[in-house]
Amino acid sequence: MATEKKHKLKIIPLGGLGEIGKNMTVVEYGSNIVIIDCGMSFPEDEMLGIDIVIPDITYLIKNKDKIKGIILTHGHEDHIGSIPYVLKKVNVPIYGTKLTLGLLGNKLLEHKLEDVSLNILNAGKSVNLGCFKVTFIRNNHSIPDAVGLAIDTPIGTVVHTGDFKIDFTPINGDVIDLDAFAELGRKGVLLAMSDSTNVERPGHTDSERTVGAKFMEIFKNCESRIIVASFASNVHRVQQIINAAVAYNRKVAISGKSMINAVKVSQELGYLDVPDGTIVHVNDIRKLKDNEVVIITTGSQGEPMSALTRMANNDHKKLEIKRGDLVIISANPIPGNEKTVSRVINMLYEKGADVLYDALMQVHVTGHAKQDELKLMLTLLKPKFFIPVHGEYRHLMLHAKLAANLGIDEKNTIIGKNGDVIEVTSKSIMKNGNVTSGNILVDGLGVGDVGNIVLRDRKLLSENGLIIVVLSTERGTGKVLAGPEIVSRGFIYVRENIDLIEESKAVVRRALNKCQETNTREWNNIKMAIKDSLSSFIYEKIKRNPMILPIIVEVNNNELPDLTDK
Ligand SMILES: [Zn+2]
Ligand SMILES: [Zn+2]
Repeated sequence: MATEKKHKLKIIPLGGLGEIGKNMTVVEYGSNIVIIDCGMSFPEDEMLGIDIVIPDITYLIKNKDKIKGIILTHGHEDHIGSIPYVLKKVNVPIYGTKLTLGLLGNKLLEHKLEDVSLNILNAGKSVNLGCFKVTFIRNNHSIPDAVGLAIDTPIGTVVHTGDFKIDFTPINGDVIDLDAFAELGRKGVLLAMSDSTNVERPGHTDSERTVGAKFMEIFKNCESRIIVASFASNVHRVQQIINAAVAYNRKVAISGKSMINAVKVSQELGYLDVPDGTIVHVNDIRKLKDNEVVIITTGSQGEPMSALTRMANNDHKKLEIKRGDLVIISANPIPGNEKTVSRVINMLYEKGADVLYDALMQVHVTGHAKQDELKLMLTLLKPKFFIPVHGEYRHLMLHAKLAANLGIDEKNTIIGKNGDVIEVTSKSIMKNGNVTSGNILVDGLGVGDVGNIVLRDRKLLSENGLIIVVLSTERGTGKVLAGPEIVSRGFIYVRENIDLIEESKAVVRRALNKCQETNTREWNNIKMAIKDSLSSFIYEKIKRNPMILPIIVEVNNNELPDLTDK
């Protein structure tokens, strides 16, 4: 179709560049769009009170009619986590492998989304979406049923590796389809996008199987209860824990909502092989001897509400850590979670447990390709153009350098940012403008209603507390009728600081008198005068900067409100 070639192919990352999280990439040609992945990320420290972060999809809403579908590479949250929010704005068909859609199904139920078109596509199979033909290619990763993508477009083939590693001895026997990637390379790849997560690490990743061997060794010599924390979606890891339990005659209890869910879904879909009678309810482990028990739990990231943290805190309804328990943390902290993880490890030691984690013993392997695997992938694909993806800026930069060493011309590689419009023709690749992009913060049921100003306030409140100054003035004259009263939260304990509070009131009174003298009647100006005088007074006194909130109630002289703090 020669006429189709009049368009440029556009690649528009809406998430996942300059960050590890909320992956989402738009592939657009003329009036056709497919979306690769639809992820979320966890909030950063300064995003107080925020549950999750999703990409800004203004561009998708604007171009709703062009979207042919969402293609999912695998079931990790940074690839499927924002789907419920996106579907509420643009309801388009979704394509993914069986396990990916199984995990997604649960999430859609939680959000009460029923009218969704979910289409299973197995590795090796293709689907036509508008002018694109999308083919799934078997991958290895820290979740089963992960795929890379070959997208045939009118101007050439685009390959997206998805999150991948090369595991020659994976747990279910499905080795990454290197043959398919090589075949694409032979036919000619116009553009490749590849996982940059582990580009800093030399060599080749270890096989998932090495962790299983470690489990066998640990279980063999253990007489106490064993508690293993891992990612719920790491079904192969869970399988290996179960295998070791079965080998050493232990029963397995599953703890934590997402772990229970993942085990249920993957067992139903045939991704987890559990002999009958192996899994017992947590209530029933009391009846077993210590050396007959394994508990598989969530909480490998030290998440405060997770089952493991609650156990360590004596805050779990059914389970607690007891002296002698062996706890294995079979995961690495996601960057940013190091502190919470080490806090949990400390608590576990304090409870008298023994703890094994990656720094002590190899009880985890990564799911992301290291340098040798990245080189092999690019060597097989031999792409004309290259966009490193799934990484912070430094990862993308290093991946571009690695590609340059393999002969991919640096001017044919684009280090992109979220929102960039990257235009590709059969002869060129370049950035050309950008679209709206960014973080949408989800706090409970509110999506995007918490912005920078709200966050700044939360930060200020959390660090310095709040002082509320309440007073009432007479309507018309502005004369102070009652107050100022001072109420504080998270600042100082009022009853023990009566002097400071009294002095503060005096400061406010002086500021108000000044306003009267200068005939300042404007509420905002009065409020500003109160804030300024009080904040410099408090800073001078105790070197703190609480948030100050003046509340002025204007009343008729005969209806005085009660301003005292009850
Ligand atoms: Zn992943
Ligand atoms: Zn990922």
